[in-house]
Amino acid sequence: MRYSETLLPTLRETPAEAEIVSHRLMLRAGFIHKLTSGIYSYLPYGLAAIRKVENIVREEMDRAGARELLMPMVQPADLWKESGRYEKYGPELLRFNDRHERESCLGPTHEEVVTDIVRKALHSYRDLPVNLYQIQTKFRDEIRPRFGLMRGREFIMKDAYSFDVSDDAAEISYRKMYDAYKRIFSRCGLDFRVVQADSGTIGGSFSHEFMVLAETGEDTIVFCRECEYAANMEKAEVRTEENRQPDSLAGLEKMETPGKRKVNTVCEFLGISVEQLVKTMVYMADGKAVAVLVRGDRQVEEVKLKNLLGAAEVEMAEGKQVYEITGVPTGYLGPVGLNIKIVVDQEVAAMTNFYVGGNEKNYHMKNVNVSRDFQADAVADLRQITSSDPCPECGGALEMTEGIEVGHVFKLGTGYSESMQAMFQDKDGVEKPFVMGCYGIGVSRMVAAAIEQNHDENGIIFPVPLAPYTVIVLNLGLKDQAITEMAERLYRELSERGVEVLLDDRDERPGAKFKDADLLGIPFRVTVGKSLTKSGLVEVKNRKSGVTEEMVPEQLVAALLTKIAAEIDLQ
Ligand code: ATP
Ligand code: MG
Repeated sequence: MRYSETLLPTLRETPAEAEIVSHRLMLRAGFIHKLTSGIYSYLPYGLAAIRKVENIVREEMDRAGARELLMPMVQPADLWKESGRYEKYGPELLRFNDRHERESCLGPTHEEVVTDIVRKALHSYRDLPVNLYQIQTKFRDEIRPRFGLMRGREFIMKDAYSFDVSDDAAEISYRKMYDAYKRIFSRCGLDFRVVQADSGTIGGSFSHEFMVLAETGEDTIVFCRECEYAANMEKAEVRTEENRQPDSLAGLEKMETPGKRKVNTVCEFLGISVEQLVKTMVYMADGKAVAVLVRGDRQVEEVKLKNLLGAAEVEMAEGKQVYEITGVPTGYLGPVGLNIKIVVDQEVAAMTNFYVGGNEKNYHMKNVNVSRDFQADAVADLRQITSSDPCPECGGALEMTEGIEVGHVFKLGTGYSESMQAMFQDKDGVEKPFVMGCYGIGVSRMVAAAIEQNHDENGIIFPVPLAPYTVIVLNLGLKDQAITEMAERLYRELSERGVEVLLDDRDERPGAKFKDADLLGIPFRVTVGKSLTKSGLVEVKNRKSGVTEEMVPEQLVAALLTKIAAEIDLQ
């Protein structure tokens, strides 16, 4: 590709709206163009990177025996009503009516559509197993679209769905996808980890996530230093020791705490430790208020709360909203006498004589005990695990790191096939529901994750398998015939050998071309300039190591082919 013929608008300045490095670099390197919140055009350079990911995904899915199809983005609401998800999915599902007033939605995922295909097309155990996949645009009306392609409203996903005769057979399909995913992320040159995950609104009994390790990741991974345990923090179960002392319950007391509203200031004022205080927080779960109690130093894990309440969305209520609902100003809320639903973290339920807000300005309460002083509508594991908690599996020491979820595999079981009446006839002549699995990869997110993991202060450093071009040839003498002929010749020869090359043939200063080459992150840079006319040499630079070498042009193609092969072998 000639630079002069493509659309590759690079920027010198860092765009103000971008908060994380991949988003900044994608905007600066002419990857994407924002149309509106969470919705982007993929410009030629960005699309080329996406195609690289797609090709690897496609090869590995085909190798694992999955078959590609393409399903529609617009889906009838009736199908979603059959599965029972039309109500459950919440505002991420974009709903609308067509001209005939038929309720419709934009596909955030395709369990319903694929199940409809299979229930009509397959009827016998002899047709199974089958695994169908597509690479397609999804729409989710995310509450907080951000970070560019990392969390868009419109994004590209690879989704696959397996159909089997039994749980055991479904386990084999799941394992195949699990292994294929490991191959995909390794081949892309990414540093990743596989973790146990929450099953979310897709439902199902069991799932794993594939996480690319990066500081800016929205997810936290918890892993054990002593055993194999690794989980998304959302799902990591907290082990709580039973330390309630039912014989030592003291009398409930209200105390004045003038102007003390924050956990720390209340504890300091009362001379107590933060472990003795319990926070009461109000959350809105699908529009309904619920009070959540956790120890003063703990954080509520919203995914656990969502699962407990069976809610599509939960969000912490703001101070003003809390006042409107409870009549209590911020900082003084407590469970005693509170007339909204109350859910309690298991750790709090195991505490004796703790402190809470007094439900009145400038007051707190002491010697509070669950059941005696207020009723809990539910007690459950509701808090985030911390690195000082024991490993839920072996009790060993935990560590935490940040990650970006790029893939997710689920065992679905028969939930969808039962509700949608998707049946096959088994060997014994009995009609049975298909046993399903589903498997997603965030294709567009993966490009963002790759950049988060591979960059420096000058720009992107693409792993070779994901680079839109493997080599960039800089022509630094557009008006010099010898230089231009050599740049053209190397461009042609490399292209003929199957190397993807970008020829920078723009009328720009050398400094600008060097800067853009670094920004774009193309693994190898070939410079054809003054050295050619002076000493008959061209220069090769490795973007990752920064190492440069000069050589005669006749050696260049063979030398580059060896270098490229070596980089791919490293993956
Ligand atoms: P998240 O927790 O990040 O919202 P999810 O659990 O909703 O993800 P899945 O339904 O499992 O995601 O979707 C499969 C894959 O699609 C995810 O692993 C992720 O890589 C990608 N993905 C999900 N939501 C988005 C989004 N808004 N933008 C880009 N990629 C996404
Ligand atoms: Mg999501």
